[in-house]
Amino acid sequence: MKRFHCDCGNVLFFGSSVCLKCAGKVGFDPAVGLMVRVRPESVMKRCENGTLHGVCNWLLPAKSSAVLCLACQMNQTIPDLSIARNRLLWGRVEMAKRRMIHTLLDLGISLPSKREDLRNGLAFDLVSSFSNPNVTTGHLNGVITINLEEADDTYRQINRQHLNESSRTLLGHFRHESAHYFWMRNLSELPWDSADRLAFRARFGDEWLDYSATLNAYYQNGAPVDWDQRYITAYASSHPWEDWAETWAHYLQIVDGLETCESLGIHVKHLALDLVMLPGDAGLLPSMLPQSAAADGAFLAWLQRWMCLSTVLNEIASSLGEAPLYPFVISVRVAQKLRLAHHYAQSWGAPSLKPRVH
Ligand SMILES: [Zn+2]
Ligand SMILES: [Zn+2]
Ligand SMILES: [Zn+2]
Repeated sequence: MKRFHCDCGNVLFFGSSVCLKCAGKVGFDPAVGLMVRVRPESVMKRCENGTLHGVCNWLLPAKSSAVLCLACQMNQTIPDLSIARNRLLWGRVEMAKRRMIHTLLDLGISLPSKREDLRNGLAFDLVSSFSNPNVTTGHLNGVITINLEEADDTYRQINRQHLNESSRTLLGHFRHESAHYFWMRNLSELPWDSADRLAFRARFGDEWLDYSATLNAYYQNGAPVDWDQRYITAYASSHPWEDWAETWAHYLQIVDGLETCESLGIHVKHLALDLVMLPGDAGLLPSMLPQSAAADGAFLAWLQRWMCLSTVLNEIASSLGEAPLYPFVISVRVAQKLRLAHHYAQSWGAPSLKPRVH
């Protein structure tokens, strides 16, 4: 995440609604990717989910007939607000959703809503499993469903321990489910022998494996003992689609995490730590894709900066008596999967070809 500034020069953050120095009202303009001041005469207005419910700080053009920002317009279903607790949980869910959407837009990846593009657009169902016991977090045909209860820290931590996960966050859910959406939208309809499909198979395995059978086997037997040499998480070993989703989620996490560190002035060159070095083949794309030693090297340098900075995050967490903030190991094979995710992000982004905001 970038660092933002108010007109008065004070620093602002992605979740800011008011400048703490000049008390000016501010909001995020997704069309330009910046925090801006909101005044009565502004060309931008607040999203109604912000003014009515306090769960959004995004803006939309004042002259628009719409009342919701582009992130809130993607909601098909919102929680039952007659239950007071749901508003608190909903605010957390919307914050995570906006952060993921911002990262994707910043990569230049278009995100039409389902109303704009029924076939390839994206929509969200945000529903509590307390209201509807059939609700589970997942993706189907461009609709990402998030169980609102995942915004309850106790509920989520119990699930995390039950599922033997090292990390479980709302933001991680959104990033993970976005991978299933992009698979459907950008990969599933390519010819099976296209370079991007073959590259997927080369890195993640045969996606035609029986999904429910392999998932059931994972839940019965767990991950292979050497999973951390081949996968970013244990769950990624359950099926190639889940490996892709965990890898893509992790890629977005590094994009955001590294940008946050560096925008705040935490640069590897300032650290009293040696850079973690991966071998050169960790940056390779599968052979059916165009090869570029320069692009591979740039990717590896980026990844290694993050691996070094994540060591700092973990050491600071230890100093505070907390568990590691970044409980992951990036093996060579995982780096190669992240490299393919980076390739897809770049080819889907093409900001010069696609409008940034729909
Ligand atoms: Zn200010
Ligand atoms: Zn909004
Ligand atoms: Zn999944």
